[in-house]
Amino acid sequence: MDKILVSSCLLGRPVRYNGAGKRVESALLDLWREQGRIVALCPEVAAGFPTPRPPAEIEPGKQAEDVLAGNARIHERSGADVTVQFRSGADIALATARSHDCRFALLTDGSPSCGTSFVYSGRFDGVSREGKGVVAALLSQNGIAVFAENQIELLAEALDRQI
Ligand code: SF4
Repeated sequence: MDKILVSSCLLGRPVRYNGAGKRVESALLDLWREQGRIVALCPEVAAGFPTPRPPAEIEPGKQAEDVLAGNARIHERSGADVTVQFRSGADIALATARSHDCRFALLTDGSPSCGTSFVYSGRFDGVSREGKGVVAALLSQNGIAVFAENQIELLAEALDRQI
């Protein structure tokens, strides 16, 4: 039975930059948890960031794939460069997914790590733009299908097709 890598904030764990969780109420998630299929991970905490922590964004005009290629940076609002730590979190996420044979991940959209369809502008102005976070991009590049928290039904369908 396929295991699923899940952003731990979606399970209610208070690991987000602001010290909160982002729990998703879902019968499917409850079922997968009962089935022992959930592999929970917060890549940023795993990389050593404290909680709470300053928000960080991928630099304007660049994508997570550029960060992974070494051609873009991730900064905190102060200007502090946290690219290395974010890259470390992505590497940990991939290693964790592989160690559990996860072919699917359910990730928190909008995060510079876990975002699957959008991230923020890089200007700390609250404006979103299309793109992935570095975790979602690295997992995708390595054949792991990523889904946002509003795509749980789609993930369930994808899992069903694997049976
Ligand atoms: S890195 Fe991912 S799991 Fe951790 S708080 Fe951010 S969105 Fe949630």
